[in-house]
Order: sequence, then C-alpha cells, then structure tokens
Amino acid sequence: MPIDLRSDTLTRPTPAMREAMAAAEVGDDMFGEDPTVARLEARVAELLGKEAAMFAPSGTMANQLALRAHTEPGDEVILDGNAHIHYYEGGAPAALSGLTCRCLPGVRGIFTAADVEAVLRPADQHFPPTRLVCLENTHNRGGGRIWPQERVREIGALTRERGLRLHLDGARLWNAAVASGIPERQLAAEFDSVAVCFSKGLGAPVGSALCGSGEFIRRARRFRKMFGGGMRQAGILAAGALHALEHHRERLAEDHANARLLADGLATLPGMELDPAAVETNIVIARVTAVPADRLVRELDAAGVRIFSIGPDTIRAVTSLEVSSADIGRALGIFEATLSSLSS
Ligand SMILES: *Cc1c(COP(=O)(O)O)cnc(C)c1O
Repeated sequence: MPIDLRSDTLTRPTPAMREAMAAAEVGDDMFGEDPTVARLEARVAELLGKEAAMFAPSGTMANQLALRAHTEPGDEVILDGNAHIHYYEGGAPAALSGLTCRCLPGVRGIFTAADVEAVLRPADQHFPPTRLVCLENTHNRGGGRIWPQERVREIGALTRERGLRLHLDGARLWNAAVASGIPERQLAAEFDSVAVCFSKGLGAPVGSALCGSGEFIRRARRFRKMFGGGMRQAGILAAGALHALEHHRERLAEDHANARLLADGLATLPGMELDPAAVETNIVIARVTAVPADRLVRELDAAGVRIFSIGPDTIRAVTSLEVSSADIGRALGIFEATLSSLSS
C-alpha cells in the first residue's frame, strides 16, 4: 500500500461512520422533511454561533452560494490571489455570479485591513461596486496557515465600517480551532457567512455547510436549488457529517503532530527547503531544490509515497486519519532514499 499524502479528501468513512449513515432517519429535504439534515444544520449553526446553516454537496458549492447570495452580477469581490475560491473553483465567481475578483498578494494567504483599504474605490459609475471580502482559514495554498485573530478583527471592523460583507472559506476551520485552541464560534464571529467542509480531515465522504443569518440562508437556499444542489434523502450523508463532528474533530491534533513530524524530517534532507515552524496544521509545503518538483513526485510515487506538486519547485503533503505516525516514519525513509538516488 502506498503512503498517500496527496490530500485529506482521500479519507474514507470508517465502519462506525458507515453504520451511522446506514441507520439515518431520512425524508425529502427539499420538502424540509429530512430530520437528520435538520439536526446537522442545527448543530453546525450552534458550533459556529450563527442563526442558520444549510447543508451543501461540496465546499465549492457552499462558497459559490455565499458569493451569489451576497452579491449581484457586476459586483467585485476582494480576496487573496491564492484563495481556493479564486484559484481552485473553476472560474465559478465569473461564470455563476458574474463577479470580478480583485486579488490581493497575501503572504501565505494572509493580508491586512490596510491591504483591503488600499484597493477600495469610491462609489462611481466607472467602478464595479465592491460588495464582499473573503478570507480562508486555514489557508490551503498558504500551507494550512491559521489567520491571526487580530488581523481578522481589523478586517471585520473595516468591512462593517464600509458596508461590505465578509465571508470565510472555513473548509478546514476545524483544524484551525484544534490547533489554536480557539473555538469555532469565536473564529467565525467576525463573518457574515462561513463555509465548512465535512469531507476533508473530518473524514465524511460528502458534504459541506454554509452558515449565516436566517435571512441570508433563506436567500442562499433558493440559489442552492438553482445551482442544482438541492438533495432529497440527504440525511444519509448528513449522518456521516454528524458522526464526523462528534468523533473526528479532537483527533485532528494527531494529523497536526504527524505533519510536524514530516516537516521536521524533511527539513533535514538535502535538496528540500522548508521551515518546520511554519507548519501549523495538517499541510506541509516544501521547496524542492534538487530536481523539478514533478520529477520528485514521479520518483516518490514509484517508491510508494504519493504527494502533489503545486508549482514547478513546490510540493505539498497532507496528513489525515488515513496516515499514522509509523507511515510518516516510513515516508521519510523513502524521501531520503529517493532524493539521494536523484542527486547521485
Ligand atoms: C477543499 C476546499 C474547498 C472545497 O472543496 P470541495 O472539493 O468542493 O468540497 C474549499 N476551500 C478550501 C480552502 C478547500 O481546501
């Protein structure tokens, strides 16, 4: 079996999770009659300290529903250039909501209120109206980085003062909460809307949720139907998500410890460059100086370790409940042998 460090989306439902899913009480959720979906939505709204929540088939759809529900076509969204919403969602802001993205050059995904303020323009018929600012916590392409809370508060104050909406892509908010010790509801407090995923490190097979005010979620429900995300006996999926929330949140700390173990080991290898202290959660991003990143990825694959390259000289490895600390030890041995064979 290869050691698969490509993504925390590879996690498969555990036997206990499958049992919970098989036993789920269900109904037609588009008639508002699926009790398990209703239970999940209430639980997520409670955890995030928001009035309401809506189950969605994917994190991409949850984010894009937030964009659509906050804006009108022609509006402008401000976000980091490496944000998932801009970088990895197939051009959806333009295609589905008619939005332009104003990208900020964040540092590993993080920017400041001053950065936002610098690109705000006065109301004028020449300019697209700026409606929304989006943050991502933890930041995927930033290497699982956690947003400093004082930065979030500054941006929250600015967006309120300027009448802008603030959305959080919290696909891995669970990781941020466990690693920082700050509860999810506190991490979510500044935001008008928050999207979370159950299908990443939490290990559910399918599902995300969008949270916000009751009025906002009512508006988002209409767009969910329009985007084709309305589901019927979705309680089977919601039961997996509920199980994940109860049983897989605390254990994310193990993934973080494994990522740190991997980073500490990789930092000692010739041909790799990374700062282990920069690894805050379950994502390790490293620069490869020995060979092109694609070449290393191919050689590692042949030797039994799977990772991704995310740039010409950059690799990404992600830990999850599919990977044990013993696996990390074995993976480091394979990295070492592969790098030394490539440089000889
Ligand atoms: C994975 C991810 C999403 C959503 O992805 P889906 O595959 O559509 O569920 C959104 N934002 C971030 C930061 C992600 O890593």
